[in-house]
Amino acid sequence: MARPSFRERALVVGSHDFREADRIVVLLTRTRSVVRAVAKGVRRSNSRFGSRLQPFVLLDVQLYEGTNLCSLTGADTVEYLAHGLIEDFERYTAAAAILQAARRYAVADDHDPFLFDSTLAALRRMRDSADPLVDVDEFLLQVMMHEGLAPSLFDCANCGKPGPHHAFVAALGGAVCGNCRPPGMVNVDEQALRLMWLLAHGHREAAQQLLEGSNGQQLAAMMHRMVSQCVSVQVGSPLRALQLGQ
Ligand SMILES: [Zn+2]
Repeated sequence: MARPSFRERALVVGSHDFREADRIVVLLTRTRSVVRAVAKGVRRSNSRFGSRLQPFVLLDVQLYEGTNLCSLTGADTVEYLAHGLIEDFERYTAAAAILQAARRYAVADDHDPFLFDSTLAALRRMRDSADPLVDVDEFLLQVMMHEGLAPSLFDCANCGKPGPHHAFVAALGGAVCGNCRPPGMVNVDEQALRLMWLLAHGHREAAQQLLEGSNGQQLAAMMHRMVSQCVSVQVGSPLRALQLGQ
């Protein structure tokens, strides 16, 4: 019986060489979450589509289901996303962090295209981003919101007491009140928590006003530390590129 095949929009979020001329690619697909597939012979110079299996290329792929791995038998370029990224170190590492995060936050058997669509949108925006780290944080906060993992930014994450509060503990789920705050915590500016709330809820213009204020850079750095702590708690380890701003 022929194996079922399907076509999908996909982004390469990981790959490694396999056997003599094959490659295993990890794809973030639009409606099948993360798919691992073997691409046979793609490391040979005459491969029809091997060179397209790169990060920052939106692909239309042909896959066949297999027992453990799918087989990738074709890949067409839909959109080349790397312009503006490969020339700029900060944008490039931020875009790499977006792909890395998308892979980690992908949930098996999730058919919801939200993660794929927001990853693609974030990569497109990154090409002319004026502030790559803020854009990564915005992407991450919105993914956390969608996955039900958003940190509490006003009420105390531990006891529910209404804020604003001035401490943040990712392991407890967000902002914490004076009673729940563990000793030795660094104070957090409530405006940084507000900035996170605005970005998580898509209010970029209002967030931009805060970022352009006199302490905007400080708020952005504070937000970045808090978002990074959330990522570490939620997916088990920090994203390499996210450590840039620290
Ligand atoms: Zn509390």
